[in-house]
Amino acid sequence: RSLSLGVDIGGTKVAAGVVNAEGVVIDRAQRATPATDAAAVEETIVALVHEFSAAHRILSVGIGAAGWMDLSGSTVLFSPHLAWRNEPLRATLEARLGRRILVVNDADAAGWGEYRFGAGRHVSRLACITLGTGIGGSLVRDGQLERGEFGLAGEFGHQVIMPEGHRCECGNRGCWEQYASGNALGREARGLARAASPLAHRLLAAAGGDPEVITGALVTALAVDGDPASRELLEDMGRWLGIGLANLSAALDPGRFVIGGGLSAAGDLLLEPARHAFARHLTGRGFRPVAPIVAATLGADAGLVGAADLARVSARSRR
Ligand code: BGC
Ligand code: ZN
Repeated sequence: RSLSLGVDIGGTKVAAGVVNAEGVVIDRAQRATPATDAAAVEETIVALVHEFSAAHRILSVGIGAAGWMDLSGSTVLFSPHLAWRNEPLRATLEARLGRRILVVNDADAAGWGEYRFGAGRHVSRLACITLGTGIGGSLVRDGQLERGEFGLAGEFGHQVIMPEGHRCECGNRGCWEQYASGNALGREARGLARAASPLAHRLLAAAGGDPEVITGALVTALAVDGDPASRELLEDMGRWLGIGLANLSAALDPGRFVIGGGLSAAGDLLLEPARHAFARHLTGRGFRPVAPIVAATLGADAGLVGAADLARVSARSRR
């Protein structure tokens, strides 16, 4: 009863799950994201909705997409990591599936999931950050997602923290997500491995000797496994993470930061350096409360759980 389907479309994978009213995932599937082909992403969504509708009585469907949703939730205006440009995603999906579909930003979905069922419960001003291909952001304020005037609030990953820094997929240089995301971690690790540094021997061995196949996920796994070089790389990411969070505190003063996304699997290997850099860069430090930085408790499920719950809430409000 009251099952909702959530689909989370990230830069590298599509995760779908059937979620009950308590936020528990009772069935799930995962596919690779066809990142360069908007039609293929739509195809993947349609197939997943069909598949789960055949097996369960799905009352609502919510999609969290790694893109900039307009305020009405109908159009993906832009996506740095996927092929959408002014894409009327909701109308396309509703026409193909013959049912209502809710579409939101992937990080908004994750933030909502953590607010409802995870590490952000009962926080009246919550900031949630997802570290995956890029950096996603969301704000939940007094139980409501803060969408901004145009639907684009929370694009924290594109705050410029290093003028003239690395080129970002959004077109700018020096965006935060070029310094503290899964992509950034992969890039730094490949650089280390290419330099044939003896530090990188475990990384290289795990990659079968080819620096170019090293990903952020591999570095995270090796760090958890104790590899010193991977731990150093995560420490660097954590430092950049903390600096960006300090900027967010200056602007938004949230009561808590919840950190999710694939990179958060590193846990305190990432979060401890982040907390240090945060405390060190926080404006007014020593004279102000310091918001806690905690790991997301729904892990990689936050986005699909949040998307499913938002769809359930919106279906209920129509009844
Ligand atoms: C995009 C966001 C998205 C985030 C995580 C960023 O590059 O601008 O819209 O939420 O990546 O997928
Ligand atoms: Zn950018």
